[in-house]
Amino acid sequence: MFENLSERLSGVFDRLTKQGALSEDDVKTALREVRVALLEADVSLPVARDFVKRVQDQATGQAVTKSVTPGQQVVKIVHDAMVATLQGEGDPGALKIDNPPAPILMVGLQGSGKTTTTGKLAKRLKDKEGKKVLMASLDVYRPAAMDQLAVLGTQIGVDTLPIVPGQKPVDIAKRAKQQALLGGYDVYMLDTAGRLHIDETLMGEVEEVRNVVEPRETLLVVDGLTGQVAVEVAEEFDAKVGISGVVLTRMDGDGRGGAAFSMRAVTGKPIRFVGLGEKMDAIETFEPERIAGRILGMGDIVALVEKAQETIEAEQAERMMKRMMKGQFNMNDLKMQLEQMQQMGGMQGMMQMMPGMGKMAKQVEEAGFDDKVILRQVALIQSMTKKERANPALLQASRKKRIAAGAGQEVSDLNKLLKMHRQMADVMKKMGKMGKGKMLKQAMA
Ligand code: GDP
Repeated sequence: MFENLSERLSGVFDRLTKQGALSEDDVKTALREVRVALLEADVSLPVARDFVKRVQDQATGQAVTKSVTPGQQVVKIVHDAMVATLQGEGDPGALKIDNPPAPILMVGLQGSGKTTTTGKLAKRLKDKEGKKVLMASLDVYRPAAMDQLAVLGTQIGVDTLPIVPGQKPVDIAKRAKQQALLGGYDVYMLDTAGRLHIDETLMGEVEEVRNVVEPRETLLVVDGLTGQVAVEVAEEFDAKVGISGVVLTRMDGDGRGGAAFSMRAVTGKPIRFVGLGEKMDAIETFEPERIAGRILGMGDIVALVEKAQETIEAEQAERMMKRMMKGQFNMNDLKMQLEQMQQMGGMQGMMQMMPGMGKMAKQVEEAGFDDKVILRQVALIQSMTKKERANPALLQASRKKRIAAGAGQEVSDLNKLLKMHRQMADVMKKMGKMGKGKMLKQAMA
């Protein structure tokens, strides 16, 4: 059976003493285990090799975080890199269906789950988005396939195009388009014929249909258990007809989901949905985190990763506080604070969360201190050199001009920022003298 990655890694790292940074050897040893875990999860060899190399460059030399082991830290790096690879742009579940009636073309091999997925997506569009959907089967080779779609339609309460025997796929597609227009449908879904293997006739047929309806989405349905084959199928379909996304079915099975990773790494196509069973509700929007966790074989990875992240942030904050109390509050610290503020929803967002501060949020807004100001201030700090950030007192008139220009702002904006920084630094220094850190500990407890 699979030994999970955290077990593998803890074995490796037990022997290692903790050092300041991840050494090249530490990382190499750990990544050897990662590679085995990927291959066991059915990720293809070239993809696994490439990925490991990329992570290796990223991980070597990273500071080891207090209170996590080097093994855990490598897992976090691997996990993050994996999520980044799996992630497409935008929301995978958002189908392009503006401009009704929007055609969606469903393609894939026979038995991949294409008809089932067509029904699932139609139901989802109807139930979740209130869309009026029409489904049509273009499978003229298997009358049973047409009947299957009609039965599904009745079951989920979605209309299907009436079956007219003897029509060619492209003519059925035209009829579906016509019917969708006349009937005021938002979406029409075309379930194309599948074959056991890719063949030219099949591709030619799909191409012809594509040219006639100009689909807003062309979704390839592939069996997630077929691993490498699924990736090859995707490459071929994309080369011949062009696909806008992939639906991986049978992800409820025992497979480790490696196909998803290879799929994304090799084809670059976004995975949009995963099928999780035979029932009409068994479909979900693709979630990179979940698949990454599954491939790495660690149910608790998300918690672990979050904990590591928190630790890293707390350590950063602690270091900053220590320096601030000594009066060493520089521009880098200010930048970090501004960015944290931004992450927490900006000034207004933060104030609205605090009891009794709602009114003040409005005043802050009226005073012109909105979140754009934060971004502009960060931009100013970014256009300073390293030395200048560490010691803004160095700044002379000519440099000020350049910095302001570099950030697309006026020197007066920069002066305001510098003044704010000086005032903050003064306050911090006073606080430091008063409490020598005691106050800070209380505040952070
Ligand atoms: P098609 O030939 O590509 O249209 O495939 P079908 O939609 O007819 O599906 C083939 C079989 O796979 C049917 O028995 C489906 O119920 C089953 N199936 C489809 N999607 C899933 C899934 O996500 N999980 C499981 N377990 N079975 C599925």
